[in-house]
Amino acid sequence: MDRGLTRKREKLTDYRDDYWVCGKCKMCQSMNVQKVESARFYRNCPCGTRYRFESYYAAGMMEIARAITNMEFEPTQKTAEIIYSCNLCGLCQEMCFPLKGMHTTRIIQLMREKAVDEGWGPLEAHKPMLDSTAEKDNPFGLKQGFKAKAVKGLGVKDLTKEKAENLLFVGCAYAADEDMQSKLSSIVKVLKAAGVDFGVLGDAEPCCRSFNLALGDRDGFEEKALENIELFKATGASRIITACPHCLQVLRDEYCKSMDIEVLHVTELLSRVLKKGGIELKQEVGIRAAYHDPCMLGRWCGVYNSPRRLLQALPGLELLEFERKLEDSWCCGSGGGVKASDPELAAWAAKERIEEARAVGADAIVTACPHCESHFSGTGDMRVYDIFQLVAAGMGEEAI
Ligand code: SF4
Ligand code: SF4
Repeated sequence: MDRGLTRKREKLTDYRDDYWVCGKCKMCQSMNVQKVESARFYRNCPCGTRYRFESYYAAGMMEIARAITNMEFEPTQKTAEIIYSCNLCGLCQEMCFPLKGMHTTRIIQLMREKAVDEGWGPLEAHKPMLDSTAEKDNPFGLKQGFKAKAVKGLGVKDLTKEKAENLLFVGCAYAADEDMQSKLSSIVKVLKAAGVDFGVLGDAEPCCRSFNLALGDRDGFEEKALENIELFKATGASRIITACPHCLQVLRDEYCKSMDIEVLHVTELLSRVLKKGGIELKQEVGIRAAYHDPCMLGRWCGVYNSPRRLLQALPGLELLEFERKLEDSWCCGSGGGVKASDPELAAWAAKERIEEARAVGADAIVTACPHCESHFSGTGDMRVYDIFQLVAAGMGEEAI
């Protein structure tokens, strides 16, 4: 997924050689059977598995891409519902690309951009998120001041006034409410205890606009992105770190090529510090948990090892793996705007994952994405942890 702000904007037809050659082999509709032990966890695509019609799998969506390119039919409300039922989890592309060289997930994303350009997308349920981003610079309808409130009292440098090596990009999700702010507090405690020099932008921090990209509103994304880059450069920070994989993906894949600033997930930085002996994990956590790879952190950004290294170093954590793990992970169900437009599908996908956690013997799920964590927490009855809560507990910085 080699893109960037300064590159020529891609359009759906740039990938016509991909969707034209879909042979309906259906590799995108299931796992590699040699990688899962139980047939129960053989399926991969949440929307296809839930609705069972070909059109809800990547194979069907490739046919929709071909047909709308060929102008064989006028897209309808149903067409929009189908392409917005996709979590953009990337698993179909993971299956298809090595065999057929097709960028299925990117094609679905570009179909959404075409839908927005032509006025048949996004869905009604997505419009408040885009309106809120345009008016309030966050997708959750929050009033200005919420980011300053989230970092108030945490004792971190204000990079609008001071300098630091790292800019901690908080992201809208970790600042959204008191529950998420408590997880932000864990992140800050861990970074401080690890001796990381960092600061934040408070209310000056913009929205990364990952939701705009996911929903096909590329104009809404680009409108602020170039301005944001100047803001990041003006801080003088040599690195941006973020704990939100959605912010990470946008900052790394879209902004990074236009600025000379390294972008890392907080687990990547902490894993480096851990390797140098800069983190002392001494407190027993006493948990038996399975690690859920967030789609954006794993498949989209390739970060699999850093969170596992941190978790493996935690005393008293029995770390389990899901059957569908690493590049084959099942999505939590909330991504791609699905939680807003089809909450029933999003909840069903999360319950599937919780059942898989139980099947591998876990008492809890640990993950490294605020969206996955809050979605699992709000859906099932299993305990769910943000990885930074556990690392803070292992460092003796807080109790769990
Ligand atoms: S999208 Fe790829 S994996 Fe799926 S049916 Fe078409 S060619 Fe096969
Ligand atoms: S990106 Fe994920 S949810 Fe979307 S079609 Fe592919 S496997 Fe299904």
